[in-house]
Amino acid sequence: MNLCGKAVVGDLAILGGAKLMAEPLHVGRPNIGNHKDFLGRVEAILERGWLTNRGQCVQEFEKRVAEYLGVKHCIAMCNGTVALEIAIRAAGLKGEVIVPSFTFVATAHALQWQEITPVFCDIDPVTGTIDPDQIEAMITPRTTGIIGVHLWGRPCATEKIERIAAKHKLEVLYDAAHAFGCSQRGKMVGNFGAAEVLSFHATKFFNTLEGGAVVTNDDGLAEKIRLMKNFGFSGYDNVIYIGTNGKMNEVSAAMGLTNFAHLSEFIEINQRNYHAYRDGLADLHGLAIFPYDESEKSNYQYIAIEADERRTGLSRDALIDILHAENVLARRYFFPGCHRMQPYKALFPHAGLLLPNTERLAARVIMLPTGSAVATGQVEAICDLLKYALGHADEILPRLRHRATVAGIAAKMGV
Ligand SMILES: *Cc1c(COP(=O)(O)O)cnc(C)c1O
Repeated sequence: MNLCGKAVVGDLAILGGAKLMAEPLHVGRPNIGNHKDFLGRVEAILERGWLTNRGQCVQEFEKRVAEYLGVKHCIAMCNGTVALEIAIRAAGLKGEVIVPSFTFVATAHALQWQEITPVFCDIDPVTGTIDPDQIEAMITPRTTGIIGVHLWGRPCATEKIERIAAKHKLEVLYDAAHAFGCSQRGKMVGNFGAAEVLSFHATKFFNTLEGGAVVTNDDGLAEKIRLMKNFGFSGYDNVIYIGTNGKMNEVSAAMGLTNFAHLSEFIEINQRNYHAYRDGLADLHGLAIFPYDESEKSNYQYIAIEADERRTGLSRDALIDILHAENVLARRYFFPGCHRMQPYKALFPHAGLLLPNTERLAARVIMLPTGSAVATGQVEAICDLLKYALGHADEILPRLRHRATVAGIAAKMGV
């Protein structure tokens, strides 16, 4: 065990002991490439005096992304949320769109923002992605599309989803914010549905500070999206569409080009951490890691574990409190589910009745830190800590009572 001298339960930081980590370990610390390369590119941008509006870096970045994913078009944008909004509008979605509730709230907001109703569909309990067998029951005469989310880099059941969509003449988009560099049956994410949306936010596997993109193999859709992200301008003084400002700036693209050179290194680190977590948690009853299919390409950016309180003896939230006290800032992605956030909670107060798997996972998932800022030794220490906590649950539990817990705070907030 690698517990930095913790010998008795009272040595846990939550019970007054020293912290396991000197510095906080965050989920989603950015993966940052070579600083000098980035600064050199920024210097060149300043020299050129071309800061945005499809400058050299953005053009090169779009080309690199399209090549890497083997997709015809990449339209870089200022962030993933605006990219989603634009993809939704360009694909002609309106009325109702079927989406999972178990996602980052931006997936639902991108619809509701343009007065399209997100209809929340339950997830497959094993993969955590939208359950295709439940989609048909959610279809009404107002339904125009389906947005699948490749949760934590695991691609959706694309074949089944697209078969159902074809049968009912629905459009399919994917929120691929987590899945840059992932594949399904050897095909890179980016090539499924009518279009897929990427996020290059600082916390994602591959970042451009803030940024996003729509990728598609559809020429017409790509053209429409290019216009929409630039106010609908088709040339000087010629506006032919309603548009917005979704442009990526040059400095973001420079960050993307810099990080491109490190993709395989970031994947290697993440995969190594994943193996360390998988091995370190292997014989822990009640804690199961969400596995990656290593016969596919993946970015290994999300270490999600499912805690079954009946077997761990400690609730998911108690485990998070224990980790936080040690400076391991684990998160509850995605808690409590979009349907329990506003405005959806008020609009659909009973949505949860149709979302049992969503509610179960939202109550059980713990997201652990990984990425290039986390060393393998730290992963081992986190696993040992969890092992120790589970092994001493009976002693720890009574001493945790009466403490302000994550669960208690959340209950006060009504979530
Ligand atoms: C991060 C994320 C988004 C939003 O992307 P931004 O670039 O932060 O706007 C959308 N959907 C999912 C699933 C995400 O994780």
